[in-house]
Amino acid sequence: MSYPTQPTASHFINGAYVEDTGGTPIEVMYPATGAVIASVHAATPAIVEQAITSARAAQGAWSALSGTDRGRILRRAADMMRERNHDLSVLETYDTGKPYQETSVADATSGADALEYFGGLAATLTGEHIQLGEDWAYTRREALGLCVGIGAWNYPTQITCWKGAPALACGNAMIFKPSETTPLCALKVAEILHEAGLPAGLYNVIQGMGEVGGALVCDPRVDKVSLTGSVPTGRKVYAAAAAEIKHVTMELGGKSPLLIFDDADLDNAVSGAILGNFYSSGQVCSNGTRVFVQKGIKEAFLARLTERLGQAVIGDPLDPATSFGPMVSQRQMEIVHSYIAKGVEEGARLVTGGARVEREGFFLQPTVFADVSDDMTIAREEIFGPVMAVLDFDTEEEALARANATEFGLSAGVFTCDLARAHRVVAGFEAGTCFINSYNDAPVEVPFGGSKLSGVGRENAKAAIEHYSQLKSVYVRMGNMEAPY
Ligand code: NAD
Repeated sequence: MSYPTQPTASHFINGAYVEDTGGTPIEVMYPATGAVIASVHAATPAIVEQAITSARAAQGAWSALSGTDRGRILRRAADMMRERNHDLSVLETYDTGKPYQETSVADATSGADALEYFGGLAATLTGEHIQLGEDWAYTRREALGLCVGIGAWNYPTQITCWKGAPALACGNAMIFKPSETTPLCALKVAEILHEAGLPAGLYNVIQGMGEVGGALVCDPRVDKVSLTGSVPTGRKVYAAAAAEIKHVTMELGGKSPLLIFDDADLDNAVSGAILGNFYSSGQVCSNGTRVFVQKGIKEAFLARLTERLGQAVIGDPLDPATSFGPMVSQRQMEIVHSYIAKGVEEGARLVTGGARVEREGFFLQPTVFADVSDDMTIAREEIFGPVMAVLDFDTEEEALARANATEFGLSAGVFTCDLARAHRVVAGFEAGTCFINSYNDAPVEVPFGGSKLSGVGRENAKAAIEHYSQLKSVYVRMGNMEAPY
């Protein structure tokens, strides 16, 4: 069987597809079947050099354009992504295994939102005038230069757009290295940007494992690194970037809490817990995987949750009726499976799921554990799969303290009908992205990012501009200079 997924070549550099078969081969598997659907090569040092040289050569003229001119290209690319949403969504499904029901509304569309939003913002980027008596000063908002983006495998189209759109809007060039597990989607974004009129060299995609990412991060010609990945990788990349005092954005892992109070609307709370644990088969960084449920509502919550999970349609991700797909890889499935075994071993109560789905591909059942205690492995470590841990609590104070007792700080949510409590609880959360009576919404207008080990910097919204540009201050003296001698 042939798949419509083999890219023209492995890399996209200086406005064109480029191949170098000297690089380590990377096979791309369709997670729903395990079939090899494409093959690319990791970037060789020559490819890395080509990408850096062409990006640096193109960046100066790009940043000299007006913001309106830059923005127009991004907005055109956004329109093209929406027009091609079906094909891009099918590719995202092949790359990740996520159901088309999700990819058709959450990936290319989210990428298009970022291109449209930052395309619109580009023309509004200004410095400020500061009057100082007769003298005055002004600030210029300038590009950083060459930005490197490094992606995780769960949202390949979205991640490349969330990094590329603000970088380009601010006048930077970008080299994006997708995850080696999902190398296909970013190439399509590069194609579209260039078709929309982006000058060659400004948006390059090169493939490879951590080694290629490391070569980019360590190169002195790179000014900024934005990583979406795990905390261990974040530590390494942050340290390498620090050696040359490069700018960084770190979007890392989490083990986020979701607090459900007795007075919450039961079905809304169950919906929040489902979206916050099982969307994309649980492979979402901001997931609320520690679900603290107040004792009065606990059994009703578990009963309704189990009933609703029974309605999940598990199967062929390309079938629009499917609502729950496979894990991205055999390896990820095995990691998650071993966490499930740990949950059982450490005494958590398996409420539902826990096993592989009997079919080809890397499918695991949506899994819920109850009676989980704070010290269990499944309550402490990021699993990155469809495994929910339900913990009981009595009081607000206790729940908040336990919710914050983690080294992570990406997201947090609360379901309650008590308005004052909702705001009090989110004010107390040690997390970058919080939700009241909702979970996992990520519109481009709202800053997204983590605190503590979950990261530094923010993506999306005007906040991202701060992370892809720098200010130059200019003091202007109107009279004579005075000096002591
Ligand atoms: P990962 O950390 O294994 O890899 C992320 C990327 O870093 C990959 O492209 C990889 O090739 C690259 N990399 C690995 N070592 C490197 C090195 N030494 N130098 C430079 N680059 C290197 O993560 P993953 O398994 O692909 O993704 C899952 C993780 O990503 C989870 O922890 C998840 O929470 C996190 N994530 C975070 C966000 C967020 O926005 N906060 C979003 C999605 C995923």
